[in-house]
Amino acid sequence: MPEGPSILFLKNKLQRFKGKTVSEASGYSEMDKSAIDHVKILDIETYGKNLFFVFKDFFVGVHLGLFGSMLVNKRKKVNASFALHFPHSEINFYVANTKMYQGKPSDHFNFKTDILNKSFDGEYVLKTLQEVYTEKMIGDVLMEQELFTGVGNIIRIESLYRAKIHPESLVKDIPEKKLVYLIETVVNYAYEFLDFLKNDEVKEKALIYGKKICPKDKTELMIEEMGKVKRKTYICPKCQKLYT
Ligand SMILES: [Zn+2]
Repeated sequence: MPEGPSILFLKNKLQRFKGKTVSEASGYSEMDKSAIDHVKILDIETYGKNLFFVFKDFFVGVHLGLFGSMLVNKRKKVNASFALHFPHSEINFYVANTKMYQGKPSDHFNFKTDILNKSFDGEYVLKTLQEVYTEKMIGDVLMEQELFTGVGNIIRIESLYRAKIHPESLVKDIPEKKLVYLIETVVNYAYEFLDFLKNDEVKEKALIYGKKICPKDKTELMIEEMGKVKRKTYICPKCQKLYT
């Protein structure tokens, strides 16, 4: 599944389409696409796992979900769920969810929580974490897109390992300075992830995601579906502390 950095990586590939006028929008998605014909793309932005094409009075959000993908000037054999056509090029999305919004992205989304946005506000995230999510397991909370916008399973697992926190620890039991360190680690690792994408080496460079032993102490990793999120979780029982 694409995580925040994967979407930012796609956005960076689309920079040349900024300022271009769409000749036609197509695809089998149910969204009414007529407003997109013959209008100029003012900007392309991301918000976590969402990609936004920003037009004058509205924008279109594209979410790739579990199986979505994007191709530029290439097509798959199956029909695109959403496509933007230009005189000499096209952008095709497959198995993607699309939604049209009126106004600007900042009217609808809080960019303070987007781990890869320059408006990311660690203090705001810490405060919200301690006020709203205090009774929850940190391993679940990291997947809350309203608080850690853009975090996916790899970022979740690698950040908890780097911060030495067991995912089943409740937020209220984790010392504040540990939470601060975790938030910083999530952001730093997200930028590393973006860098690894350039050479397609995210999985190769992961410390425990997809691995069997801890690189530090060679302990066998615990691998199980854990918490409410039911996502495959990797833990080193020696390195990661369960706060109680
Ligand atoms: Zn370890």
